[in-house]
Amino acid sequence: MDTTIEPIMFDALGLAAPLLKAVSETGYTTPTPIQAKAIPLALQGLDLMAGAQTGTGKTAAFALPILQKLLPFASTSTSPAKHPIRALVLTPTRELAIQVEESIKVYAKHTPLKSLVVFGGVDIKTQIPHLKTGIEVLVATPGRLLDHVEQKTLNLSQVQILVLDEADRMLDMGFMPDLKRILALLPKQRQNLMFSATFSNEIKKLSDDFLTNPTLIEVARSNATNDNVTQKVYLVAQNSKQALLTHLLSESDSKQVIIFTKTKITASKLSRALQKEGITADAIHGDKSQKERIEALDAFKAGKITALVATDVAARGLDITDLPMVINYEIPSAPEDYVHRIGRTGRAGASGIAISLVSEDEEKYLADIEKLIKRSVEKVQVDPKILVKTTHQSSATNGKRTTDHLPQQDNDTVASNRHAKPRQHTRKPSKDPWFDKPYEPTVHQANNSTAPIQARLHKAPVAALLGGLKLSNRAIQK
Ligand code: AMP
Repeated sequence: MDTTIEPIMFDALGLAAPLLKAVSETGYTTPTPIQAKAIPLALQGLDLMAGAQTGTGKTAAFALPILQKLLPFASTSTSPAKHPIRALVLTPTRELAIQVEESIKVYAKHTPLKSLVVFGGVDIKTQIPHLKTGIEVLVATPGRLLDHVEQKTLNLSQVQILVLDEADRMLDMGFMPDLKRILALLPKQRQNLMFSATFSNEIKKLSDDFLTNPTLIEVARSNATNDNVTQKVYLVAQNSKQALLTHLLSESDSKQVIIFTKTKITASKLSRALQKEGITADAIHGDKSQKERIEALDAFKAGKITALVATDVAARGLDITDLPMVINYEIPSAPEDYVHRIGRTGRAGASGIAISLVSEDEEKYLADIEKLIKRSVEKVQVDPKILVKTTHQSSATNGKRTTDHLPQQDNDTVASNRHAKPRQHTRKPSKDPWFDKPYEPTVHQANNSTAPIQARLHKAPVAALLGGLKLSNRAIQK
């Protein structure tokens, strides 16, 4: 059943005063379509299966009704017994869990309701004292939640509302067995809210298994890309991608960019290579510690980092206000991931640019993506002169024109070679020892976060950005 409800303002949704106050302080004036549809239905206690594009405001769509339904149980008592877990929000990734709980805290700030987030990758012992104080809303990743269940450090017997956020991603990530175990621990009598960006058959099955007579809400076509996002594909050889990326960044008016790669190693290498171009960059991927990932994200959100190079671990759920540009350095083989990656830009009505660098090998994936999003993406043929020119100039940085740096090796090797001019002149020009070392966290550099990327690159023609500049003019490297 699809229900069309179009209230105009938040106060038409039947939300309590403390929640409306928090919403208005947040600066929201009108509910987004998913909020307009989901909030009244969730307040009625219905199970929902909701599909919405990324960045449509789905967190508030479930957080506000949850808080409202828990208000009658809110207590100012410090006794943990007065604060049992009454709502459980499950998310596939730690980053999303953190973000969701941050939003819940904001919406709950004028109520005595308490929330907490628990996720893996950090010492479980640090979470236990917080759990012991009692909290009404728990946001968790499935694995860590089960660890706590095993250690008997939390009790789920009073959960009244369950949210499965990014349910499709949870299935993709193999969380089905964990979900089944968790659901078996919850009271049968409860309200279930399931959010999913895509509606696959598996999602429908999950909904049949765990939801009771759910109301379907869809505010955008499944697997749709946001119309606010301008999409472009650059057809380019894999080993010329880095030169093209630098060229594109040098031309960009954007202040920040997320660059997606397929592998962790490429993410790390590319981040390092961008730093050599004078761009403050950091990488987030699965091999980084939780602390490093949070630090990198926080620095990016605070504008201290210009380019965040990420694997798909960052593709979902991250909410970075006003992110103007996403670049797919490598396009994903799973077409849904493309939708999620580019959904990092053009959020909440803003416009955005999504650029994909596509090599010949990747064209098959591009075809799958276009099929999924039901549209053809504009293709730009890259002028080989730019790349040849930049590559030659890059070689020139090393004081001689060799052919070592021409795009003929695998991409990561080229990435290391092209910008390999070391500060101490002690290394061979074709080798950068960093690439042979295990990952080390980046030291964040101070940055002028309000300037566009191009302004933070050296004021020089593109060719000079890739070489040709005197060493003293280049960005200071660690
Ligand atoms: P979400 O889809 O929940 O990650 O939200 C995406 C972005 O939209 C976040 O930056 C929210 O703060 C913002 N947002 C959520 N609801 C509204 C609203 N009603 N008006 C304006 N922005 C909103």
